[in-house]
Amino acid sequence: MPKSPFTQRVLNIQASATVSAFARAGELRRQGVDLISLVAGEPDFETPEHIRDAAIRAIKAGHTRYTNPASGIPELKDAICDKFERDNDLYYDPSQIVVTCGAKQTIFDAIIALIEEGDEAIIPAPYWTSYADQVRLMGGNPIIVPTTQDSDFCMTARQLQDAITPRTKFVLLNSPCNPTGTVYTRENMNALADVIAGANVYVIADEIYEKLLYEDAEHVSIAALLPELADRTLTVNGVSKSYAMTGWRVGYGAGPQNLIDLMIKVQTQETTNTCSISQYAALEALTGPQDCVEVMRRAYVKRRNQIVSRLNRMPGVSCNMPRGAFYVFPDISEYIGKSSSCGCIDSDVALCNFLLEEARVACVPGTGFGAPGYLRFSYSASPEQIARGMDRIEAALTALYIKDDHS
Ligand code: PMP
Ligand code: GLU
Repeated sequence: MPKSPFTQRVLNIQASATVSAFARAGELRRQGVDLISLVAGEPDFETPEHIRDAAIRAIKAGHTRYTNPASGIPELKDAICDKFERDNDLYYDPSQIVVTCGAKQTIFDAIIALIEEGDEAIIPAPYWTSYADQVRLMGGNPIIVPTTQDSDFCMTARQLQDAITPRTKFVLLNSPCNPTGTVYTRENMNALADVIAGANVYVIADEIYEKLLYEDAEHVSIAALLPELADRTLTVNGVSKSYAMTGWRVGYGAGPQNLIDLMIKVQTQETTNTCSISQYAALEALTGPQDCVEVMRRAYVKRRNQIVSRLNRMPGVSCNMPRGAFYVFPDISEYIGKSSSCGCIDSDVALCNFLLEEARVACVPGTGFGAPGYLRFSYSASPEQIARGMDRIEAALTALYIKDDHS
C-alpha cells in the first residue's frame, strides 16, 4: 500500500460527532425528510435584537478591518475583565484575555501551547467531543476518566488523583457539562482543587454554559478557589450559548500571562482575529441588558422538565435530571443487543441510526462523547418539536422492546 500523503495526526482523529450529526440532519431536511432534530448544541432562539443592532452599527461605523489588537478590541477585553470580576470573583488584567473564533479555538490554542508529543490530558467522560481529538491532533494522549450516571457523571477527587502521572499536562473541567448537564458543586470543586493544587498541572476550565443553571445549582470557577490555581488555570467562556450567538464565533479565555501570550502568538499565525463585527456584538452582549439570558434560561427549564419526564416513561430508558446546559444524556444500554428492521442494535450508534430511520428523530450517540450506551438529545428546540420527537421515539422504542421480548 502506498504511504498516505496525509499526516497520521489528522488521519487518527474523527470528524466532530456533533458537527457531523448536525450536518447529516441538515442534509436530510434539505432532501425534504420530515425530521425532528434534537442534535444541535446551539440555542434555537434568535440572537437578541439589541445585539444584532450593535453589529449593524459596527458595520455602519466602519469596524470592518482587522482588529487592533488581533487578540480582541480593548473595549471587549475590558468588558470581559468586568464580567469575570462580577460573576466569577476572578481578577484579570486585559492583557490576560484572548478573544478567539469561538471557545473551540480558545481551547485548541491552549492545547497547542501546552501539549507536546506523548503528554497526557485528563478528561472526565462523558466529555464534549472536541477535547480528546484536539489533544490527539497535537500528539498528546487523552486520559479518559469514566464517570457514572449514579454519581451524576461527576469525577471524584480520588479518580483525579489516580489519573495524574508525571506526564499529565492539564485537567479538563467542564461545568455545566456538555453532554450530561452535570454541574459540579462547590464541594466537588474544592476537592478537585485540592488535588490539582498538590500536582504540577494546568486546568482548562470550560465554563461556556455558566449562565444556564437550574434550581439551586451554583456555578463555581475553579480558578477562584485557590490563589495558586489562578496561575495555572485557563478559564474559557464565550457568547455562543448564553446569548444565542453560535454563528458569530466569539469565545474568550483568561489565564496566566505566559500562557495567554503564547495563545495570542498562535492566533497571529492562524486566524489573526475573530470577526470585527462580531466583537462589537459580543461587547453589547456582555455590557447591554441581561434579561434576554433569563428569558431563554426559563424556557430551557420547561423544556428540560418536559423531555426528562417523557424519556423516563419509556421502557428501558433512564435519564438523570440535569442542572445545567441544554442537553439530556439518557442511558439506553438496555436496547443494545435487540434486533430491529435495520438489523441488530449492537451499539448506541446503531440505535441512533435506527431512530433516524424509523422515527425520523436525530440525536447524537454517546460514543461521540466517550460514553457508549447513551444518547444525547438537545432540548434547545420548541416544546412542540420536543413533544413530537418524544412521541416518535416512544413509539419506535416501545415496538422494539415488545417485539424483541416476544421473539
Ligand atoms: N465547549 C463546550 C462544552 C461546547 O459545548 C461548545 C459548543 N460548541 C464549545 C465549547 C465551543 O463553543 P463556541 O466555539 O461556539 O464558542
Ligand atoms: N457544542 C455544540 C454541540 O455539542 C456545537 C457543535 C460543536 O461545536 O461541537 O453540539
